[in-house]
Amino acid sequence: MSSSGPRQAAYRLGVLKGDGIGPEVVPVAVDLADLSARAAGLSVEWVELPVGLEAYGQLGDTLPQQTVEALHGCHGWVLGPVEHHRYDPRLSGMRNPSGTLRRLFDLYANERPARNLPAVPSRYEAVDLVVVRENTEGFYADRNVLEGDAEVLVTPDVVISLRVVTRRACERIAEYAFQLARRRARLRARPGRVTAVHKANVLRRGDGLFLACCRAVASRYPDVALDDVHADAAAYFLVRDPQRYDVLVTTNLFGDILSDQAAGLVGSLGVAPSLNSGDEHAMAQAVHGSAPDIAGSGVANPTAEILSVAMLFEWLGRRFDDPAATEAARRLEEAVGAALSAGVRTPDLGGSATTAEFARAVRARLAPGSML
Ligand code: NAD
Repeated sequence: MSSSGPRQAAYRLGVLKGDGIGPEVVPVAVDLADLSARAAGLSVEWVELPVGLEAYGQLGDTLPQQTVEALHGCHGWVLGPVEHHRYDPRLSGMRNPSGTLRRLFDLYANERPARNLPAVPSRYEAVDLVVVRENTEGFYADRNVLEGDAEVLVTPDVVISLRVVTRRACERIAEYAFQLARRRARLRARPGRVTAVHKANVLRRGDGLFLACCRAVASRYPDVALDDVHADAAAYFLVRDPQRYDVLVTTNLFGDILSDQAAGLVGSLGVAPSLNSGDEHAMAQAVHGSAPDIAGSGVANPTAEILSVAMLFEWLGRRFDDPAATEAARRLEEAVGAALSAGVRTPDLGGSATTAEFARAVRARLAPGSML
């Protein structure tokens, strides 16, 4: 886990808008986050950087070197969704910015909370869980070999997919989950619990190692309970009784799938935030993709992106022991909650508000008296 560094006079945060609905929701999130930061006395310099299909068109690279270099000088950044299925792997310069950045900056922990938000219609109530997903290895072909790709086409009819599981990655993701469970327990004044999700019954070595690491780390957290569940049973219990879970920790692919499922439990992918973090940097990135079916129509829900930036502010608050960053996160979350409570909802939540109308409603709560 990262130790906290000296408080900064100002924070440099990159803005990478991404594809599809990215250019619709990222600027809204940044604008509102900036307002919240100012009100909390947090100084942020936002640095817009090229990424995605637009960057490919202009610079021949979906993740240009100049972007990567600039990010090294940033404390963190916001990455909008990327339309990865349109990236042709046969063309050079068509890298998946999301996976590449996670690996390049060792953003090993993907924290994906799912909780009910005020006045957001959903199938369940009182859901308040977090999926903690290992981000740097597993079955993801673009990040588990040094060069090339870990999906091998043996014949036109046979594919071998390699999965990597290391003790180091398992231990640090377990550590992250226990630290998070401890913080949540303090905030909620109840005991913390971590549930390790695995398939050690079938993937005996890989998931066996993951489970053993979770148990070893648990011995250092006597105040946090550990239990475990097979991934298939976890999917079942999540739809039966999601309130039973606190922090779920798991490997990359299971975490990717279960966190989308968890978003569905509390209303929409449009309200599901996430943060990718390592010891030195963090990347705010909503759980959802580029939503090509609604891109360009001005109705995307920016909530997930806004709350992802709030998570980035919270991370800055912990990393630099800076209460102004924590306060900026709190104000942003509160303003989103207040706008939702007032019934302002985008179509994914059954409402008729446009992205801009929802943004105005949040802005009015952040800065009463500002232009509506
Ligand atoms: P998706 O998340 O883009 O869309 C799934 C459904 O959720 C769609 O109906 C969409 O309209 C809706 N939705 C998503 N975000 C929304 C929002 N903010 N407001 C309202 N509705 C929203 O998933 P997909 O269709 O499987 O993927 C589309 C593309 O996105 C693919 O190229 C995929 O590879 C990519 N993708 C990127 C990321 C990322 O960059 N983080 C994550 C997942 C998928």
